[in-house]
Amino acid sequence: MVKERARILVVGGGYVGMYTALRLQQKLKRELRRGEVEITVVTPDPYMTYQPFLPEAAAGAISPRHVVVLLRRVLYRCHVVVGEVQSIDHAKRTATLTTLATEEEGAGPEQMTYDELVLAPGSISRTLPIPGLADHGIGFKSVEEAIGLRNHVIEQMDIASSTRDPAIRDAALTFVFVGGGFAGVEALGELEDMARYAARYYHNIRPEDMKWILVEASDRILPEVGEEMGRYTVTELRRRNIDVRLRTRLESCADRVAVLSDGARFPTRTVVWTAGVKPSPLLAATDLPRTERGRLKCTPQLTIDGATHAWAAGDAAAVPDVTAAEPGTETAPNAQHAVRQAKLLGDNIAHSLRGEPLETYSHRYVGSVASLGLHKGVAHVYGRKLKGYPAWFMHRVYHLSRVPTFNRKARVLAEWTLSGLFKREIVSLGSLEHPRAEFELAAGGKPPIDPMNDPKGSS
Ligand SMILES: Cc1cc2nc3c(=O)[nH]c(=O)nc-3n(C[C@H](O)[C@H](O)[C@H](O)COP(=O)(O)OP(=O)(O)OC[C@H]3O[C@@H](n4cnc5c(N)ncnc54)[C@H](O)[C@@H]3O)c2cc1C
Repeated sequence: MVKERARILVVGGGYVGMYTALRLQQKLKRELRRGEVEITVVTPDPYMTYQPFLPEAAAGAISPRHVVVLLRRVLYRCHVVVGEVQSIDHAKRTATLTTLATEEEGAGPEQMTYDELVLAPGSISRTLPIPGLADHGIGFKSVEEAIGLRNHVIEQMDIASSTRDPAIRDAALTFVFVGGGFAGVEALGELEDMARYAARYYHNIRPEDMKWILVEASDRILPEVGEEMGRYTVTELRRRNIDVRLRTRLESCADRVAVLSDGARFPTRTVVWTAGVKPSPLLAATDLPRTERGRLKCTPQLTIDGATHAWAAGDAAAVPDVTAAEPGTETAPNAQHAVRQAKLLGDNIAHSLRGEPLETYSHRYVGSVASLGLHKGVAHVYGRKLKGYPAWFMHRVYHLSRVPTFNRKARVLAEWTLSGLFKREIVSLGSLEHPRAEFELAAGGKPPIDPMNDPKGSS
């Protein structure tokens, strides 16, 4: 039984938002039924994205539908509002948000009041003011971007196969990835592997005609798997003819030429930007305390420091790592922490509503697994280091055990099993991004310009 009626507002429907709401749904079942508690989740998409599967979705090993979990289905005791919180006045316990309906009605944003706030809007790509990046760069954080990139890579192969101009062919077959973390290395590894396979269906493209370049500013890649495994990954990628450039930065990609800090210049139509993340800009539109790096200042109990009835976790939150030897260390922005923090966050809100003491978040990072393409991987987990097929297998087993809901696990397993029996899926459905294009043309309109493929680079 809770002390007072509580309206809980969860901002964000990603790892933290979904798992916190799920936990609250379990812990406060009776209170929800009696109407003593109300949980509202506000998020721009009606689904949670399992981001570690995005590289496999880009490679076609998993369908985009199976990388996401429908929030309304799993959060059946919560209200899911598809919308975006624009600002929060926590002193007044009020959030201002826009939804599809507010846009349609033209009435301006609406206000929502709450008693408890869970702020989990995650992070966005950390970009730099590099010439041409905003116009031509491609991100890799959402399922739409992953599928767009897959279609784009296959389209580049189609362009290269049909052009008579060697400069166009060369640019189409050059793929530059900036950032050697999880997202960049896995996306490049999976897409190169897919493109190498796809080349067998083109009469005039051989795998060695393609240039795949990984640009990383520091002297190592995949810090998550440790130094030794990071070095192995560099060797493995170079063995596949991937040009890995460490201590190198992208300086410009204006006019569709990637210019690197080591002086190299690559005409290209593909620059994928995965050089880190920064906290969601929403945090700056609140009256809640932030660190110098812009994350919310949190306590080890996952409350927002100095604020009452406000909670945070995941990429947006600076949670003290109580297991670290060095004081002042924050937990890293990754799924391993996000999921565990969300569960404790749900428990602590239930404790707080019942007047019970709060628990402390404590989790020692256990290591990571990464896929580098079909049957290729690297892992460093619980002190064990694995390479090649065993690491790739472990990557699949680990993520299958982690992807939310039995339904998704079964579907992903079925897809993997089928893809082991049949040939790889390498079709590009780029036209899905413009379903009305053909009809508009037939009706006398102009065809839309695809910003990823605009030859003039005008958009
Ligand atoms: C390609 C890729 C691969 C990755 N692989 C791994 C991996 O193998 N292992 C690992 O540990 N980590 C991995 N990560 C990192 C991991 O996915 C993140 O750390 C995790 O998603 C963080 O959870 P979160 O809930 O804080 O943020 P998210 O899961 O990003 O959720 C944030 C949610 O808030 C919503 N939101 C944003 N702004 C607003 C707003 N204004 N109003 C309302 N809602 C808003 C967003 O739409 C989203 O639904 C990967 C990330 C990427 C991009």
